Amino acid sequence: MAPSDPRQTKFILDESRIPRAWYNIAADLPVPPAPPLHPGTHQPIGPADLAPLFPMGLIGQEVSTEREIEIPEPVRDAYRLYRPSPLYRAHRLERALDTPAHIYYKYEGVSPAGSHKPNTAIPQAFYNQQEGVKRLATETGAGQWGSALAFAGALFGLEVKVYMVRASYDQKPYRRILMETYGAEVVASPSLSTNYGRSVLSATPDSPGSLGMAISEAVEDAATRDDTKYALGSVLNHVLTHQTVIGQEAIEQMGMAGESPDIIIGCTGGGSNFAGLTFPFLGRNFRDGASHRIIAVEPEAAPSLTRGVYAYDFGDTGKMTPLVKMYTLGSDFIPEPIHAGGLRYHGMAPMVSLLKEHGYIEARSVHQRSSFEAGVQFARAEGILPAPEPNHAIRVAIDEALAAREAGESKVILFNLCGHGHFDLSAYERYLSGSLEDFGYPEDRVKEALASLPAV
Ligand SMILES: *Cc1c(COP(=O)(O)O)cnc(C)c1O
Repeated sequence: MAPSDPRQTKFILDESRIPRAWYNIAADLPVPPAPPLHPGTHQPIGPADLAPLFPMGLIGQEVSTEREIEIPEPVRDAYRLYRPSPLYRAHRLERALDTPAHIYYKYEGVSPAGSHKPNTAIPQAFYNQQEGVKRLATETGAGQWGSALAFAGALFGLEVKVYMVRASYDQKPYRRILMETYGAEVVASPSLSTNYGRSVLSATPDSPGSLGMAISEAVEDAATRDDTKYALGSVLNHVLTHQTVIGQEAIEQMGMAGESPDIIIGCTGGGSNFAGLTFPFLGRNFRDGASHRIIAVEPEAAPSLTRGVYAYDFGDTGKMTPLVKMYTLGSDFIPEPIHAGGLRYHGMAPMVSLLKEHGYIEARSVHQRSSFEAGVQFARAEGILPAPEPNHAIRVAIDEALAAREAGESKVILFNLCGHGHFDLSAYERYLSGSLEDFGYPEDRVKEALASLPAV
């Protein structure tokens, strides 16, 4: 049933509609996922191998094949601070593009940390606290994940130590201050706090860092301290599962709008906001024969899904994590310091990679400048200033809306506006002054990095 007012712009759900369970796509996958392997023995790992790093509550979810995982009441209660998040119809952007397409966006920038990341930071802090953990170690790129975990740590009384990629630490002091305000300790990575960080610094004292390096530092921190566990903001199955509150709410909100999306779009760094929006819809494709087209959008400077190889690789640069089968550019590859720091990662979530490999989702890469062009056009029409990461999704949403205009077709397009850009104004300043640069696909450097893939 379509809304009675055709100009309706916000689709708002009551707090009672916050989902009661997360959706686990492992229950509906048409092909079985490849098991993670031990980095030393190359044998499949079991829950005991992960126990030094994660609480059992999360390990159970990592390997679960149950379709629904109940959301604990204290987590649902914390979700009330900002969930359900709004779904908008972008009437003004549609008019600016003169397109017959209907464009919708789910807005995750309403969370206290300004992105979708608290959807998983909150349950991760909860399960750790339940099992007596006192301290969490993590990495952050642009600072979004660090802010979310610092906030969640404050909610559940946990200490949080954040290894922040050096390039972002220098470019984005405000994110660091936000994390410190929530009570976290933040160091630039590579740092002098770990053996791995010290070894990188002695070889390259001016290293800009990378997500892969910061992960190595946080993993080493957690593995070497009894009171500490590790928290990852993307890539892992349980993280993607937590994010499905986004898509479940969006299904209900699209129902309020009386429409079903033909095309669903998300940006992909490690794949979590993309999975959060699209997996509940994909579940309908698998179970009910729905035919939503799903598009992942990544930066041209770190194009794992579009130009990487599907192979077992390490999740980090220090080669300490389990090997997972994913689209990768090689764990030695360090992407250029693009402003969408959350998309500067060499790999991709195994679940998202599997779906791409078997043709259930599509992928595209876009250049930095063209993504900012789309973000500015969106801001001028809709008012919300997007983070640099979702600008990639907006680019493709606009391209699809323009293609619908050319074809004279009325398509329904839905994308994830996974965070706001209030901490990214220096990047917008560079774009507006014409000094933002594009980075091409670094073919030679990727070739070099791929040469060191583990032989599995
Ligand atoms: C972290 C982050 C990303 C990238 O991570 P995914 O796991 O791919 O979602 C994208 N956008 C924003 C706003 C982020 O904070």
